[in-house]
Amino acid sequence: MRRTEAVVIGGGQAGLAMSHCLAGSGVDHVVLERGRVAERWRSERWDSLRLLTPNWQTRLPGFRYQGPDPDGYMKMGEVVGFLERYALSFAAPVEEGATVLSVEAAGGGYRVETNRGAWRTASVVIATGHCDTPLVPAVAASLSGDVVQLVPSRYRHPDQLPPGGVLVVGASSSGVQLADEIHASGRPVTLAVGRHTRLPRVYRGRDILWWLDAMGVFDESIADVFDPAVSRGQPSLQLVGRPDRATLDLPALRERGIRLTGRVAGAEGGRVFLADDLVATTVAADVRLARLVQRIDIFAARTGLDAEVGPAEPFRPFLWPDPGPAEVDLRAEGIRSVVWATGYRRLYPWLKVPVLDARGEIRHEGGVTPFPGLYVIGLYFLRRRKSSFIDGVGGDAMELAAHLAGHLRLAA
Ligand SMILES: Cc1cc2nc3c(=O)[nH]c(=O)nc-3n(C[C@H](O)[C@H](O)[C@H](O)COP(=O)(O)OP(=O)(O)OC[C@H]3O[C@@H](n4cnc5c(N)ncnc54)[C@H](O)[C@@H]3O)c2cc1C
Repeated sequence: MRRTEAVVIGGGQAGLAMSHCLAGSGVDHVVLERGRVAERWRSERWDSLRLLTPNWQTRLPGFRYQGPDPDGYMKMGEVVGFLERYALSFAAPVEEGATVLSVEAAGGGYRVETNRGAWRTASVVIATGHCDTPLVPAVAASLSGDVVQLVPSRYRHPDQLPPGGVLVVGASSSGVQLADEIHASGRPVTLAVGRHTRLPRVYRGRDILWWLDAMGVFDESIADVFDPAVSRGQPSLQLVGRPDRATLDLPALRERGIRLTGRVAGAEGGRVFLADDLVATTVAADVRLARLVQRIDIFAARTGLDAEVGPAEPFRPFLWPDPGPAEVDLRAEGIRSVVWATGYRRLYPWLKVPVLDARGEIRHEGGVTPFPGLYVIGLYFLRRRKSSFIDGVGGDAMELAAHLAGHLRLAA
């Protein structure tokens, strides 16, 4: 059995950032990755996807984007190349093709079993990703077998889908992009809209993420929010990174001819039942956006940015009056496939330490679990609002590596 001070599970940005910080603290460790470095960016994203975060925001401890297009958005191959170069930059001790099969407490530390043998270690860092397994609502099981069902991690391009109409469920970043791409391929698309965070790509001449970064919105700590559970349940950003910096929101999709409906509330055979909540959902998203735009304008005035950026832009609420249909008969409308862009959940079947709560999530305070030496990183709002982003995981990694090094000193 091999021995090390720390085992990091997962070779995405979180595992690599952690590895960089552990190396800096002189902690002997290994990163176990079941595939290759950046595996999810290689094999669980669709062909046309680009990062929604601009290149300048691709920053990890000791490494950042330094190319000629700081305001552009990386394609998937570029993200993979970036993370590969990051791993090489500090000779990260990554063992690829090593799938963790079990983690259990043993002898004051942990025993980690993999398909390539076992490890004995004083500490374990779980970095297997917030966007682990697509979350598909239970109603999906009630759809008849002739309807093709797909999740974003399996979707690559529209040609994968059978001819005919498509129902896309979910209007956050993935849902709006897939609805737009599938519609552009010549198919009628219906988009079932759930809670979302409407954002313009550019406001007053600056990328919306530039504003959020400048205002420190992403740095907000979990300790500063009123209710961590509510903050962690916020819908993700309805944003897309395209070279033309276009906004892809519901008004834009509607204008292109995509039919909007309320949330999927049920299904039976070939029928899908829809909630009467489209108007309320879009109004709620507009109210949040109006507040944000106001906050930006106040910030620009206070900090003297008014002179540097474009003028304040009038807020255009969506004000879509049509509640959409209460039901869609898939067969009658020639809809042969459903894409569930309804978020992600996390599964830890290999984790034999009793650290999961009733919902199956890891219990932790800022990544530190109640089990000494057991950590988690990369989850949404783990320590900061940006914890699950490329730009956010670094700060968490530094703090957790320091905690882990302290644990090792105590345990020695
Ligand atoms: C469609 C999409 C677009 C996104 N766009 C952006 C963006 O533009 N900007 C941004 O900052 N963030 C974005 N994110 C969010 C986030 O950056 C990604 O989810 C990113 O992949 C998270 O990195 P991670 O290292 O935390 O986890 P992951 O990339 O999920 O890495 C986890 C690794 O663990 C490995 N693993 C899992 N189980 C095991 C096991 N049992 N044994 C060994 N290895 C295992 C996996 O193979 C994987 O390589 C996006 C997410 C999605 C889903």
